[in-house]
Amino acid sequence: MTAARFEFTPPVFPGHIESLREEVRAFLAEERASGALPRPNYVSMLVSLPFTKKLAERGWIGMTWPAEYGGHERTALERYAVTEELLAACAPIRAHWVADRQSAAVLLRFGTEEQKRKYLPRIAAGDWFFTPGLSEPDAGSDLASLRTSATKVEGGWRVQGTKIWNSNSHVAQYTLLLCRTEPAGEDRHHGLSRFIVDLSSPGIQIRPIINLAGEHDFNQLYFDDVFVPDENVVGELGNGWNQATTELAYERSGPERWMSSFRLLAELTEALGEDASPSACRELGALLAEMLALRQMSMSIAVMLEQGRAPNQEAAIVKDLGTCFEQAMVAKARDLIHEEGIELHGGARRLGEVLDNAQAWSICYTIRGGAKEIMRGVIARGLGLR
Ligand SMILES: Cc1cc2nc3c(=O)[nH]c(=O)nc-3n(C[C@H](O)[C@H](O)[C@H](O)COP(=O)(O)OP(=O)(O)OC[C@H]3O[C@@H](n4cnc5c(N)ncnc54)[C@H](O)[C@@H]3O)c2cc1C
Repeated sequence: MTAARFEFTPPVFPGHIESLREEVRAFLAEERASGALPRPNYVSMLVSLPFTKKLAERGWIGMTWPAEYGGHERTALERYAVTEELLAACAPIRAHWVADRQSAAVLLRFGTEEQKRKYLPRIAAGDWFFTPGLSEPDAGSDLASLRTSATKVEGGWRVQGTKIWNSNSHVAQYTLLLCRTEPAGEDRHHGLSRFIVDLSSPGIQIRPIINLAGEHDFNQLYFDDVFVPDENVVGELGNGWNQATTELAYERSGPERWMSSFRLLAELTEALGEDASPSACRELGALLAEMLALRQMSMSIAVMLEQGRAPNQEAAIVKDLGTCFEQAMVAKARDLIHEEGIELHGGARRLGEVLDNAQAWSICYTIRGGAKEIMRGVIARGLGLR
């Protein structure tokens, strides 16, 4: 059958990863005890520059990159374990999140030697942050129809256009911009290029967009005749589509695709306590079983990416199943709270707050990083159905 083309070989965590996990947990406990990391009543991923610096000092940013670029030469599974622990604790890792997860991967794979030497060590040090510059007001799912363009001038390019939903661009120093450098011709994926753009460049405006949870997490970016030097073209001109789709495999398959509302599950389990009814135990068990299956699939992609492969379709499967799971989990938690008569204004106040925040966030889970309908198109193409 064609389905055999998809490959999910769940790896086993080597023994030493348990001690790394313990190290992260001990660090998080210390941070909590010192008040630097309050017990969260939200699922949001928040920004803390001091916390990012502490992770960098421990070697937990750029974990898998070569040492010559400031990395720590750890394995994908070591990085996976550290990320799981940070997500489970709802640690404030927003500042460096995108740069560490995906922008650096693009630079490592496609960037020039100068770019690798300039940007990667500063990302690993927790100093420089990136935002993906892909979506536009009229080009989200249909990304290849984007209109932001760059025109060649002496020594560089002049960029004109707008990007939207740029996560954390009010904190980041750079965006990895996807824009048109040549007319599309018959193939719309042709003529797109990727630039590293310094967000403090003259001509850039960053306007906040407040999300449903009332938080300032993303923005709209306006580029008015912004100069980008030649040295900031990532890899080859015209290779932008290939770079963007490779980047998306990193964005679509990590533990964050099934852990976004993990905090809610943890609070709910605690509130149900040892006296949980048999039906609540059944529901919780079913959620955990699904989560663990997703975890195995997502871990297998981490290993494939480490091997230099491009598991774009497998990543789309994890993104679709994982984000539908984490969305449904929020609804299931709400139902269980009601059915079990948990009083949210009493001792379980924190659970109520996490639920409120998770409900506001969960709507976007199946949109960000590529909408679920688009994921299904990618999967169908992989099966030869489209
Ligand atoms: C929290 C969050 C953070 C984000 N961060 C970033 C970021 O940092 N950088 C960035 O560049 N982008 C970012 N995005 C944008 C995100 O990638 C887009 O929202 C997403 O790709 C969908 O595009 P769109 O919003 O234009 O929706 P549209 O493309 O207009 O889609 C609207 C609806 O129509 C459906 N649809 C569209 N086309 C088809 C089709 N061919 N077949 C079936 N259904 C279809 C979609 O599935 C969706 O349900 C972020 C989004 C969110 C929610």
